[in-house]
Amino acid sequence: MHRRYLLKTAATAAALSVLPMRKIWAADVPAINLDGDSISLDKKDVRDFANSLNGIVLEPDSAGYDIARQIWNRYWDRKPALIARCTSVDDVVSAVKFARAHDLLTAVRCGGHSMSGKGMCDGGLVIDLSYMNNVEIDVENKTASVQGGAQLGDLDRKALPFGLATTAGVVSHTGVGGLTLGGGMGRLQRRFGLAIDNVLGVELVTAEGKVITANAKENPDLYWGVRGGGGNFGIVTKFLFRLHPMNPMVINFGFSFPHERGEGCFETLLRLLDGSGPGSIPAGWHLHARRWHWRCQHWRKLFWATIKRRPRPSAFARLWKSDAGQRLSY
Ligand SMILES: Cc1cc2nc3c(=O)[nH]c(=O)nc-3n(C[C@H](O)[C@H](O)[C@H](O)COP(=O)(O)OP(=O)(O)OC[C@H]3O[C@@H](n4cnc5c(N)ncnc54)[C@H](O)[C@@H]3O)c2cc1C
Repeated sequence: MHRRYLLKTAATAAALSVLPMRKIWAADVPAINLDGDSISLDKKDVRDFANSLNGIVLEPDSAGYDIARQIWNRYWDRKPALIARCTSVDDVVSAVKFARAHDLLTAVRCGGHSMSGKGMCDGGLVIDLSYMNNVEIDVENKTASVQGGAQLGDLDRKALPFGLATTAGVVSHTGVGGLTLGGGMGRLQRRFGLAIDNVLGVELVTAEGKVITANAKENPDLYWGVRGGGGNFGIVTKFLFRLHPMNPMVINFGFSFPHERGEGCFETLLRLLDGSGPGSIPAGWHLHARRWHWRCQHWRKLFWATIKRRPRPSAFARLWKSDAGQRLSY
């Protein structure tokens, strides 16, 4: 063996023996703590955390990371240090404990519809609940047990075949989690109240990583708080909703009529929507202009404002009369 080669090999071996092996195999994971300071997570801790989950942990170089960090409002292009895709309550507990142990900035993602991008964070841990989307319907007791990462469509798809429903939002891919914890408005609210009015209880992981139940009997203060308090009281892993009998048939129609008969048409429509008309089939309708006219916007606004308060056909009549001679289609 060459003398020079021997010396080189020996020197390399000596250097390696004093360096911790983890530093050679992989760099630590840069992250941000709760004070906004840069920290680095030990790669071994991250690996142990990932191994403790039934779900997976995505890092910036993992396949699927860029898709997993996308949220509805594309204005936010946030790059978390880790995304924990939880599939069970135990996963959520492990994620909370990991975040706590490292004082790590944390975001909770359900449907990803937060306008202000709260379901994603830069440099922190995202606890992604979107794979926890199971819904179970108890037809006899008219309740739905909904996992904390489900979307509104998951709930409706399971409940409607039994002729049951509860108030949820208007877009099927909004998260049950964020919508309900914030109050939850929807098309059925005039009949059944807000989404929170129909929450009978929750299962929740606290910031200490404890799993607790809150309902009218157990932890009633917390039960009060989560109904409107957003994600501030813990991570809800299960909601129990009250369901209501609901005709799954919905009439959806466009409203188009000659200008001179508008007043009568609106009165009929308002009577139907007021429930005093024939039948109780839920109706979805849209008023659309065949061609744009400034008055179309005006009409629409007035129509919605009136519906939201109380049908007042006279308001339409006034506007209608002021528009004499102008033929409009909606
Ligand atoms: C297209 C669109 C349509 C909408 N329509 C309606 C509507 O009809 N009615 C209505 O009331 N609102 C509506 N919203 C508003 C929507 O309800 C809120 O933005 C809500 O926060 C979105 O919830 P998410 O789970 O999808 O969002 P995410 O971004 O996933 O979550 C937002 C925040 O909610 C909290 N959170 C979510 N899930 C949980 C959980 N399981 N446990 C603890 N905290 C949790 C977290 O703090 C999270 O950061 C709409 C929004 C959009 C973008």
